[in-house]
Amino acid sequence: MPSQPKPILEILKKYWGYDQFRPLQQDIIESVLQGRDTLGLMPTGGGKSITFQVPTMAIDGMALVVTPIISLMKDQVDRLRALRIKATYLYAGLTRAEVNRTYEKCLYGNYKFLYVSPERLQSQSFLERLRQMPAKLIVVDEAHCISQWGHDFRPEYTQLGLLKKRFPDVPIMALTATADRLTREDIRKQLHIDNASIFETSFDRPNITLNVVTESVGRNKLSQIVRFLSRHPGESGIIYCLSRKTTETVSQQLRKLGFNAQPFHAAMSVKYKQTVQRDFINDDVPIICATVAFGMGINKSNVRWVIHYNMPQNIERYYQEIGRAGRDGLPAEALMFYSFGDVVTLQNFARESGQSQVNMEKLQRMQQFCEATVCRRRILLSYFDEQFDHDCHRCDVCANPPERIDGTILAQKALSAIVRVKEREGVSMIVDILKGASKPELTQSGYHKLRTYGVGRDLTFGEWNAYMLQMLQMGLFYVAYEENNHLKITDYGRQILKGDAHVEFSRYQRNKTEMRSSKKPQQATILSDLPHVDKELFEELRLTRLALARAQGIAPYLIFSDKVLTVMAQEKPTTFAEFSVMFGVGEIKAKRYWRPFTDTICRYLGR
Ligand code: ADP
Ligand code: ZN
Repeated sequence: MPSQPKPILEILKKYWGYDQFRPLQQDIIESVLQGRDTLGLMPTGGGKSITFQVPTMAIDGMALVVTPIISLMKDQVDRLRALRIKATYLYAGLTRAEVNRTYEKCLYGNYKFLYVSPERLQSQSFLERLRQMPAKLIVVDEAHCISQWGHDFRPEYTQLGLLKKRFPDVPIMALTATADRLTREDIRKQLHIDNASIFETSFDRPNITLNVVTESVGRNKLSQIVRFLSRHPGESGIIYCLSRKTTETVSQQLRKLGFNAQPFHAAMSVKYKQTVQRDFINDDVPIICATVAFGMGINKSNVRWVIHYNMPQNIERYYQEIGRAGRDGLPAEALMFYSFGDVVTLQNFARESGQSQVNMEKLQRMQQFCEATVCRRRILLSYFDEQFDHDCHRCDVCANPPERIDGTILAQKALSAIVRVKEREGVSMIVDILKGASKPELTQSGYHKLRTYGVGRDLTFGEWNAYMLQMLQMGLFYVAYEENNHLKITDYGRQILKGDAHVEFSRYQRNKTEMRSSKKPQQATILSDLPHVDKELFEELRLTRLALARAQGIAPYLIFSDKVLTVMAQEKPTTFAEFSVMFGVGEIKAKRYWRPFTDTICRYLGR
């Protein structure tokens, strides 16, 4: 990278209309501009695109962006083009002439971004072309796809390892929204960027309210969904179902009740799928009942809710799917139905998969999440190795707090047992040691001589297992799947062991399901209830946006996000000057759109 890039804050303001970077965006950008390999971990909606787009705009030359899904590629290119930035893409299915034209643009056209699918890198002729291009940065988006530990492993990603070998001088930037500890290590190893700087923002999505409902006999999912939808009138959302059949029956049932819902699954025709996807993006169809096939390529920022009609197979997937809601940062709501029937079905899937042991473990963690008596956000964040030592008050567990006990001493007993076996045992051995069991494996290892042997006799096995699970879910230790499921203590656990931090557990209950069946859900704030938003004006602005989008044949959110519209409804700019300094309004969009929006505002204000 050249030594004197343009000032990045000016670029941010000029093109995107934002006044400041979010936490770590600037650090990531500076790392890249210094020519370092960089790994950026941010949740969905965290603002990853800016972290490679801004530095690319700050230098001469272009960025190669590897991205797994064509619709994502197109979305990103559309967004850049809407800002008058030169961007293009290559994907399977283009004619030779189209491919050549794209090459020419990149070689001679001052293009800033070339998006490609990973398969492209198998082609020697592409790699030769790439060598001639002024590529100054290589971006690997959705980098978790490279790892078998991740939930989205894509074999085509494995050859991305050759990039560093072929282009040792070009910094590589890997970005992902879901990477647990193992996946993250794997990304660095496989991309050969072992010395990459890692930047990780909090994975918390505080604007998403989390609810899990345990399905019990006699209560019907559909009526709960209808009640849920009536709190979100006209708002976009996705209902994830396990089977194709369910997507069809649920959408049909909802249509009968007057909701505009459409099914979506992999076996449908390409043409139908494209139509549904477009209608959803354009706010024409608000509700999609889908299998996991839906959503990966969708960057719609105003998805307001996600329902899981069935439990997903692992926490990564769950987190990714609920993460499709509320990308604009405005309030959003997630609701999951949990039933033992789903667990059985998913166990069969896991058993039949190539990675059955890992998949079974992950499924078990998902099930434990559903049955948990610990704040759900704490569980999710500690699953992604993040320390989060307080309750969130935006989940159903927090809304129905179970009885608490001080768990510090209990935790210290368990943690010190883990230390004394040198972090080389799994959960059942630790419980045996605490209980003072006399099993042969235990005595053979000499564990009966440990000081912690038998210090937990006062509790039953059931209690110990329940509290160990809470400790895991709160992130006091983690399970090293790659080392025979041995328990390893986290920094947070060490603090507790040393007495620097306290921890509370929910009191062990024998009949958990009984206790939880009558609980109330945590209610999310809905958009139009935000105190500072002038709802009527917001609706007017939405219509203005819709008309503009229709006229230009693009998606409404490509013009402005809901977030920008809420700010507009609040600030009510009536002149070009006022409009152009607003949040989320860059130079190009100011010129292009100030008139229709300020006209709407003036009309509304009766001027
Ligand atoms: P990700 O790729 O991480 O899911 P995006 O890059 O799509 O997220 O960003 C999500 C939203 O946040 C976009 O609307 C983007 O314009 C906005 N955004 C990104 N950075 C900032 C910032 N510094 N200030 C305000 N909004 C931002
Ligand atoms: Zn909570």
